[in-house]
Amino acid sequence: MSYDEPLELLIGGEFRAGSEGASEPVIDPATDEVLAHVPHASTADLDAALEASRRGFEVWRATPALERQKVMERAARLLEEDKERIARNLTLEMGKPVGEARLELGFAIDVLRWYGEEGKRAYGRTVPARAPGMRQEVRKEPVGPALAFVAWNFPAVNVMRKVAGALGAGCSLVIKPSEETPATAVAIARALQEAGLPEGVLNVVFGVPAEVSSHLIASPIPKKISFTGSVEVGKHLQRLAADTLKRCTMELGGHAPVMVFADTDVEKVAKMTAAGKFRNGGQVCVSPTRFLVEDAAYDRFTQAFAEAAKGVQVGHGLEDGTVMGPLIGRRRIEVMEGFVEDATAAGAQLLAGGERIGNQGAFFAPTVLGEVPREARVMNEEPFGPVAPVARMASLDDMLEEANRLPFGLAAYAFTSDRKTAGALREGVEAGMLALNSLLVSTPETPFGGINDSGYGSEGGIEGLEAFQRTRFLTDTDL
Ligand code: NAD
Repeated sequence: MSYDEPLELLIGGEFRAGSEGASEPVIDPATDEVLAHVPHASTADLDAALEASRRGFEVWRATPALERQKVMERAARLLEEDKERIARNLTLEMGKPVGEARLELGFAIDVLRWYGEEGKRAYGRTVPARAPGMRQEVRKEPVGPALAFVAWNFPAVNVMRKVAGALGAGCSLVIKPSEETPATAVAIARALQEAGLPEGVLNVVFGVPAEVSSHLIASPIPKKISFTGSVEVGKHLQRLAADTLKRCTMELGGHAPVMVFADTDVEKVAKMTAAGKFRNGGQVCVSPTRFLVEDAAYDRFTQAFAEAAKGVQVGHGLEDGTVMGPLIGRRRIEVMEGFVEDATAAGAQLLAGGERIGNQGAFFAPTVLGEVPREARVMNEEPFGPVAPVARMASLDDMLEEANRLPFGLAAYAFTSDRKTAGALREGVEAGMLALNSLLVSTPETPFGGINDSGYGSEGGIEGLEAFQRTRFLTDTDL
């Protein structure tokens, strides 16, 4: 199978190949087949994209928010009309079941609409002055041309959160989506261009990530960086950003604790969290991942959770009935195997899965490990895959200590019917997002982001618009 999205760069309103002809293959992670080749931008192409974003910014910032919203709404409609085709491409390049690809695209379209509307409400404020006759205005303005680098796990949403936030605020953008999932990003860019986005407002480039980012970040043109990816790369980009003092939004990794108390409906929670854990093959930054279960509920939970894991149908994302697709690439199989070997050597029990499925594609069985000791690597490093460690906990204090033990602070989940326990968790859990008795942490209108090593700054909600704004203070009086 191959996709039907021609892969091109978008620079200054023109879709085209890289000027030096370099490219790399895009692989279907379910079949190992080459889907297409994604062009690499040369240094000259990157410079052209930066220059285009400088010009694009001047045009877009001067475009009334009402007009900007109309372009974004037209693009949302075009994406809706083309949803089936884009979702199929998304599944081919990333592996997730096509039903999930459709839902992801629907969410991305919502995000685009939300920021189109919210851009109209980029209010500043008037501050009463100390001197008579003086006017004092606090103004929110687009920060300038921006840069974005994003991971492959949500090829539509990761891209759209940055594109929509930037466009809604009046910024231009040079974005480097993942080379592993380029077609979805290109489809989004085509819809925006067709909808009438002025040239240079959105530029899409691909290449060798470290080379592209170091070149773009060294330029004084962009004023902002928004990154979604690992902690390690986030720290590296922030160091690069220091030289030109660009402000950053860092959406980094997590290792979300799931605290299950004996006073909840344990079987229901096991089913629900297993579905959450294995969604997208566990390749979700807010995936429920470290299962901390109160002693009195431990046996019931692990039994129901392992049963649910065994029932997850793994297969090609375009096949009927598939619940979980492949991992993004073969390299991730070895990482999962490493987690399982290490944990079982440390005394953990293998309750489900634990191995690769077949010898084609990057399929790995939904895996559950029980009685996992704190020292096991999987209790410390983000698995970013379908491996779920479960640990037994004695008390609320133990849960809190374990939940907060790692430097990450992205999402956290807890299930309890006790109000006092819930109150202690609301105050005590170190996470940018905490969901009690649900797994919902992401909507277009609410802030999404981490604390501590999971990064800072938010995407989603008014905070996601502010991320692309700067604040100025203007006074005005008569002499
Ligand atoms: P990664 O950091 O290696 O790569 C992420 C993206 O950045 C990829 O597109 C990659 O090509 C690019 N990249 C890599 N090195 C780069 C560099 N030097 N300069 C510019 N771009 C570079 O991470 P990964 O393992 O591919 O992705 C998974 C990670 O992303 C996980 O840690 C996950 O938690 C995190 N993530 C976070 C969020 C969030 O919103 N907090 C969302 C999705 C994924």
